[in-house]
Amino acid sequence: MSVRAGIVVTGTEVLTGRVQDRNGPFVADRLLELGVELAHITICGDRPADIEAQLRFLAGEGVDLIVTSGGLGPTADDMTVAVVARFCGRELILDAALEAKIAEILTRLMARRATGPGNDADFESVLAANRKQAMIPAGAVVLDPVGTAPGVIVPGDGPGRPTVLVLPGPPRELQPMWRTATETPALQQAIAGRTQYRQDTVRMFGLPESELAETLRDGEHVIDAFDRLEITTCLRRGELEIVTRYEPDAAPVYDRLVELLRERHREEVFSTDGALVDDQVAELLSGRRIATAESCTAGLVAARLTERPGSSAYVIGGAVVYANDAKTELLGVPAELIAAEGAVSEGVAEAMADGALHRFSADTAIAITGIAGPGGGTDAKPVGTVCFCVKVRGGASAIRTMRLPGSRADIRERSTTIAMHLLRRVLTSEE
Ligand code: ATP
Ligand code: MG
Repeated sequence: MSVRAGIVVTGTEVLTGRVQDRNGPFVADRLLELGVELAHITICGDRPADIEAQLRFLAGEGVDLIVTSGGLGPTADDMTVAVVARFCGRELILDAALEAKIAEILTRLMARRATGPGNDADFESVLAANRKQAMIPAGAVVLDPVGTAPGVIVPGDGPGRPTVLVLPGPPRELQPMWRTATETPALQQAIAGRTQYRQDTVRMFGLPESELAETLRDGEHVIDAFDRLEITTCLRRGELEIVTRYEPDAAPVYDRLVELLRERHREEVFSTDGALVDDQVAELLSGRRIATAESCTAGLVAARLTERPGSSAYVIGGAVVYANDAKTELLGVPAELIAAEGAVSEGVAEAMADGALHRFSADTAIAITGIAGPGGGTDAKPVGTVCFCVKVRGGASAIRTMRLPGSRADIRERSTTIAMHLLRRVLTSEE
């Protein structure tokens, strides 16, 4: 018997897409780590009837736990606790200790703001608005606020009446309160009897999805007990991600799968330990000095290389050289070369890399020049033609021309991924 859960994300801003949901995915990952099966994530606006409908739906589906996010603030459109209380058939009761705690938090917050005449009245109205946040469903467990909004756990009572964990919307509040919640007996009880799964990820680059599908089909025949693996594959940022969930005693089956993938696709498998290509490149760059020279990506590769804290140890700088003149003046790309071969050519990519090595006194350089579109393509060089060059001073180098599909944004994004993989390849050969 496994334990199932559902997540109700509330908030009109999330429903309309103005704010991208970060709480659903966060809670989903944590549930997975705990071995709780996630059945649904639903999203609705700040309307009591809609929130209640989702609670009813999930309870009707027989989940053991419902986690809600959002709608715990002091304003009139924050009403998740009241809806949950009604849904669970529990009265709302003022928790005096909690009210005092919220008042104390607010006093500290207000003290940090400028004080002035009329401030006492302001404070009174703020307190009144926040009294609402101290109204707790009878018998619920209170989770101390990280911001000003407390969370609650209403314990389940029997089939069709799941435990409901109510958390605030802001991710920096929800995340620590989720951790606190999982340590409470109320939540532990709701998820008792869960199956602990393992989840591992294999990442591949440069393999069409259809070829992977074929390998997985073969796996069914050549690997015993293959059906003990729950495999999902997805395309992400131009990479193939194979996520497999399995019970711990099926680990040998999983090992066989990884072996099979490596056998069939030695070149394309680049990670089996969860590491991203960005992690691998960061490690390979340690002790080096890299510079970027970018035309069509105009700094996206430099931005990606510096996403990691500590990247200042190896990223020296980069040049965004969009115009031909800039390529020549800043990186010394010969104007005659551009005239003869075109700005989007392997020769120019290489000259840009050489220029970056020189200009930044770097030992490693990555250069990109391409046509992101939608205009500017020709028969010989259609939109999506992108040239890459990676050079290590006095060492290995690689030059590639790719034809990338998709929109301008897709082409620029995909180019950064290819740049990372080309870097990885060249630096690995250097090791
Ligand atoms: P508050 O006291 O801040 O009002 P709350 O619990 O009432 O807390 P909401 O009003 O639902 O939370 O959301 C407050 C803000 O938190 C939103 O405007 C949004 O910026 C952020 N937020 C809420 N839900 C999400 C979500 N699912 N993903 C990402 N951000 C969110
Ligand atoms: Mg709110």
